[in-house]
Amino acid sequence: MWEDNVRRVVPYTPGEQPKIQNLIKLNTNENPYPPSPKVFEALKNFDAGVLKKYPDPTVSMLAGAIAKAYSRDISETFVGVGSDDVLAMAFLTFFNSDKPILFPDITYSFYDVWAELFKIPYKRIPLNDDFTVNKEDYFVENGGIVLANPNAPTGVELPYNEVEEIIAKNHDSVVIVDEAYIDFGGRSVIDLIDKYDNLLIVRTYSKSRAAAGLRVGYAFSNKKMISYLQDVKYSFNSYTMNTPSIVLGTAAVEDKAYFEEIRDKVIKTREWTKEELKKLNFSFADSHTNFIFARYNGNMKRDDIVKALRDRSILVRSFNGERVKDYIRISIGTDEEMKIVIDALKEILK
Ligand code: PMP
Repeated sequence: MWEDNVRRVVPYTPGEQPKIQNLIKLNTNENPYPPSPKVFEALKNFDAGVLKKYPDPTVSMLAGAIAKAYSRDISETFVGVGSDDVLAMAFLTFFNSDKPILFPDITYSFYDVWAELFKIPYKRIPLNDDFTVNKEDYFVENGGIVLANPNAPTGVELPYNEVEEIIAKNHDSVVIVDEAYIDFGGRSVIDLIDKYDNLLIVRTYSKSRAAAGLRVGYAFSNKKMISYLQDVKYSFNSYTMNTPSIVLGTAAVEDKAYFEEIRDKVIKTREWTKEELKKLNFSFADSHTNFIFARYNGNMKRDDIVKALRDRSILVRSFNGERVKDYIRISIGTDEEMKIVIDALKEILK
């Protein structure tokens, strides 16, 4: 009966990565632009000879570059293999109470998977009908709080002051703010690290840095929380970040000008896409991310629209669940890609 002792989990389902030619891939919120030219250069100059050695377990070059880019100290900076790794380590480190951790009912669907995996009690707090967070719902006893801000897949941002109130009212538990999409127009709470001792901010290279394939995520907090996080990480696996990712990740974060250029392009394309979707009878909460979570108000069913787009080699993401079953999440591609999507929708919905 060994199966009685198996740790069974229902895994998170990532967006598919199909190898279809000429696919317009708008299903995983990747950046449509390549990484910084500095990454290409660093890759060209990379000396594969160094691979005979283990990487630096402290990842100090990359952590130092990230810390510098955001004017933090390296002792306040944690680096992981994508923000999924950072979040998993943070759940393991900071959520160790009998009280439930809290997160919205509609949010990044990895949170409940980690809670199940690590046997952390949790409670999903329903969002309001317009997908906003009701901050008072988080003024209750809990074992920790995790908020994606802006939220995914809704795209809705919780205003800075309300995030602060949630942090302030919960001094006995850790509040994780997952800022995966913050660079596309949201306001970060990074400065609140100096004001509160219970805040962890998690970020990623996968969206605004156009480097999902590098698998770099990072976190900022106070020195004490980062040191607890490091202890757990080193107790799990010391050499998680591979040497090429350390080198290329450093090059990426040092190129501020390119980062701002592609971020602004994505924002501009998103605003154009919003206007076009409105004309086509879609409605959506105002997004400050690199995706739009929209529902069609006409007669055609969500899944038929998704299928018709796929038949035209356009891949978008949809989720099951009562409150989101009519919605399509469309990542923002290049101008050319979004024009093709809008033209396809015009044809499909006519
Ligand atoms: N947080 C949120 C809210 C996300 O949408 C994603 C992307 N799936 C992640 C974290 C993880 O991204 P990554 O592991 O690529 O950094």
